[in-house]
Amino acid sequence: MSPRVKKKRAPGRKKRGKVLPLLALKDIVIFPNMVVPLLIGREKSIKAIENAVFSNGNLFLATQKSPDNDDPRKEDIYRVGTESKILQILKMPDGSAKIMVEGIRRMKVQCYEAEASYFKVRVVEFGGTSRSGIESEALMRQAKELFETYVSTNPRIPAEITPSVLDEEDQDRLVDNICAHLLVRIQERQELLEIRRAGERLEKLISVLSSENEILLVEKKISSRVRKRIDKSQKNYYLSEQLKAIEEELGKEDYLLNEVKELEKKIQEAKMSAEGEEKALAELEKYSRMPSTSPESSVYRNYIDWLIQLPWRKMTRDNLNIDHAEKVLDSNHYGLKEPKERIIEYLAVRKLSKKLKGPILCLVGAPGVGKTSLAKSIGEALGRKFVKFSLGGVRDEAEIRGHRRTYVGALPGRIIQSLRRAGTRNPVFLLDEIDKISVDFRGDPSSALLETLDPEQNVAFNDHYIEVDFDLSQVMFIATANTPHNIHPTLLDRMEIIRLPGYTEWEKLGIAQRFLVPKQIRENGLVKYDIEFPRNTLLKIIREYTREAGLRNLERDISRICRKLAREAVKKKKKSVKVKPGDLNKFLGPRRYTYETAGDEMTVGVSTGMAWTEAGGEILKIETLLMDGKGQVTLTGQLGNVMQESARAAMSYIRAHRVRFKLSDSFHKKKDIHVHVPMGQVSKDGPSAGVAILVSVLSALTGFPVRADMAMTGEITLRGKVMPIGGLKEKVLAAHRSGIKTVIIPKENEKDLAEIPDNIKKRIKFITAERVDEILPVVFCGKNV
Ligand code: ADP
Repeated sequence: MSPRVKKKRAPGRKKRGKVLPLLALKDIVIFPNMVVPLLIGREKSIKAIENAVFSNGNLFLATQKSPDNDDPRKEDIYRVGTESKILQILKMPDGSAKIMVEGIRRMKVQCYEAEASYFKVRVVEFGGTSRSGIESEALMRQAKELFETYVSTNPRIPAEITPSVLDEEDQDRLVDNICAHLLVRIQERQELLEIRRAGERLEKLISVLSSENEILLVEKKISSRVRKRIDKSQKNYYLSEQLKAIEEELGKEDYLLNEVKELEKKIQEAKMSAEGEEKALAELEKYSRMPSTSPESSVYRNYIDWLIQLPWRKMTRDNLNIDHAEKVLDSNHYGLKEPKERIIEYLAVRKLSKKLKGPILCLVGAPGVGKTSLAKSIGEALGRKFVKFSLGGVRDEAEIRGHRRTYVGALPGRIIQSLRRAGTRNPVFLLDEIDKISVDFRGDPSSALLETLDPEQNVAFNDHYIEVDFDLSQVMFIATANTPHNIHPTLLDRMEIIRLPGYTEWEKLGIAQRFLVPKQIRENGLVKYDIEFPRNTLLKIIREYTREAGLRNLERDISRICRKLAREAVKKKKKSVKVKPGDLNKFLGPRRYTYETAGDEMTVGVSTGMAWTEAGGEILKIETLLMDGKGQVTLTGQLGNVMQESARAAMSYIRAHRVRFKLSDSFHKKKDIHVHVPMGQVSKDGPSAGVAILVSVLSALTGFPVRADMAMTGEITLRGKVMPIGGLKEKVLAAHRSGIKTVIIPKENEKDLAEIPDNIKKRIKFITAERVDEILPVVFCGKNV
């Protein structure tokens, strides 16, 4: 191939084309002969117009590639545009302008001569000559016909324009004229501008017009179908109104009489309380005297229906066989030894006393630890129906007790609604998330709930809608909560708390193998397939894809994998699948969590604390940094109030014992101390970080390093006593997960070690302490502090 030689312009030879100011258009493409008004606001555009007026009054109009770009550069503007004449300018007081332009001819940008204050471009003519002949005649005719159809079917284009457009005999001009009226996308219009040869332009135009016509036809069909449907529904309405009128004239009395008789029978069969029956019959009497067209009649009818459908007498017989209950609980739940024992005891007492009075069980634990399913199992064990009412976010008393009937669209509260759903008056009734009720101006739902749960009062529970008392004393209420701290104290007073502390990795693995995997295989229709989730795959999901005390996310992830397997099974007809750890990336995406892990190094100014969170436990690195300053103490890392106070107590303790710690008398005046607890997403409000903060600060001040594989929990008093903490099991599980080898706990928490699983006790060394002095030598490896 011969190399291309760039032709040099002979000196003195005139440059081709002409120089024009460029006006970039946002959402319009201008064709020759087209006359349009334009609103000009951008400064660059105003300058371009001023310059055009200053020279010969012509402008180059080119469209920008994206209408949203307020400050386009040259590469954002199409190169083919239209030289246009400014016919009129109207300057507005705000600096903008309105201009009227007329397209003259197509031009193409050869180069940009200036672009700073406005675009100045050198343009050359663009376009071929129109041909004549049979073929071009045929194309023109077809285009004209299609355009006629287009105008006649498109209501947005005035029909008067057709004759002037169709008179045109030149191919190029015909295309330009038609394009001026086409309502199509900017890109398509630009394409029509950019095709050089007239014949090709015509062909493109014909294809655009044909597809537009087709679309218009479909639009028309749809709108006529919609209109027909509306006409029909109007007709139906009219006829049914007439029918009603006729019915009223002829047989309303008979019809109503029958209905009333029917309702009366149902009221008697419902075996309501005496008060209920009396009320229902009185309302029925009013209903029968009401015209059926009156809107109130349906209010009465609904009310009577509610009374009829309530389970006034219907009860299931309790199965109080303790062995049976044990079996049900065991077959539905793995582990949970203590909660199960407590439940069995509770049932045994019920069996003996035959009364349902007594505290209400409240299952407390992080999401997914099995509270709901345990409550369901209690229902199953007793042979009772099970209903659930989630109190999360309930802020209106009416949600519990209903609205009065005078209220438009009134309904009974959720207690009565749930009972109707249960169909018996002694179901197991789960009040989910009792710690999440809120209080606002619409009344306090807690007090309504209190009345519901109080055995003295709930014999005659009064719903605002139902109006007559309903006996709730046979209902077995069970509540759940994430934490007991947020439960209303008077409610808490009536409850017996059963804690479900969360699972270790090994327990989760066991539950996944025995319960979650088989359940998800069943639910996703994979029973006939041989699906295997090996142990290391499950462990990988547990460790890298979930961070929770419960099993919700684990179950969700297993379910996600099963769904994907089901799809594959259907597609590829595979019979057996083994989900390998390496497949998880494909099924669940990249790993989601990395844990704060403990190394085995020793660091100055960093200690490891343990936090209890609603989702289980976490270990926290507490960092302290000293800087020269004036004794300011800064605490960061979203610390709750209690933790801030712990930090202050630790500081005071250190200052009081500065001699023993060999700190200078004025250390607190010359240094600024910054304590930071990273991991912003963990809410740190457990009052248990006193010891860890003290150790972190003291390490920074003395320069003694702290062992990183040692975690500590405990609150301190100003006198250096170590106070007990809550949530030990969750904290220890978190520490174990993160590779901690030694855990320091308050002496008073020693008794709680009983609930720590043995295999964890084997792996972690526990040190108990009553006083801070006992802890310091341990964490600083025997340093004399
Ligand atoms: P919660 O009500 O505490 O948020 P759920 O009762 O909804 O939790 O439990 C989440 C899932 O984990 C359910 O599918 C449940 O069956 C399962 N699950 C929880 N704990 C256990 C357990 N100990 N044994 C078997 N399955 C469990």
